[in-house]
Amino acid sequence: MLARLARWLRLCGADVVYDSKLGGAELLHAARREHRIVLTRDKRLRTAPDVFFLDSNPIREQLREVLQKFAIDPGRTALTRCSQCNSELQDVSRETVRQRLLPFVYASNDRFSVCDGCGRIYWPATHRARILRELAHIESGRPISRKATDTVC
Ligand SMILES: [Zn+2]
Repeated sequence: MLARLARWLRLCGADVVYDSKLGGAELLHAARREHRIVLTRDKRLRTAPDVFFLDSNPIREQLREVLQKFAIDPGRTALTRCSQCNSELQDVSRETVRQRLLPFVYASNDRFSVCDGCGRIYWPATHRARILRELAHIESGRPISRKATDTVC
């Protein structure tokens, strides 16, 4: 239900576990065991402790709600976690990842990060700029440009 929000929060640097297979009670138990807050749109969980119920349905409104509630600062923490698996990213040299990149990506970027968990490669210059541009639109409440819209997971 909140897969896109989970990916966006990870891109912002938040430590987010997402498992669509867990039911309500299992989800609450898992969250308590790991000292996490449950983000949900499930009205049945609304009154449970350690639950943050999202009023909004559009992804941008959800992201705005969560960033404000938990004081997440993407300007400081964006691109420190993998959007796919939540593992931390490690900076690596260009040569380390050269064989896995398209030539124009290698040629046009100086810095790269690799996910500790799944091996996905990120190039902060491009990704970070897109994320911060999208977040600036979200925070301003202005309409999203077509190009920025394309970056939403
Ligand atoms: Zn990963």
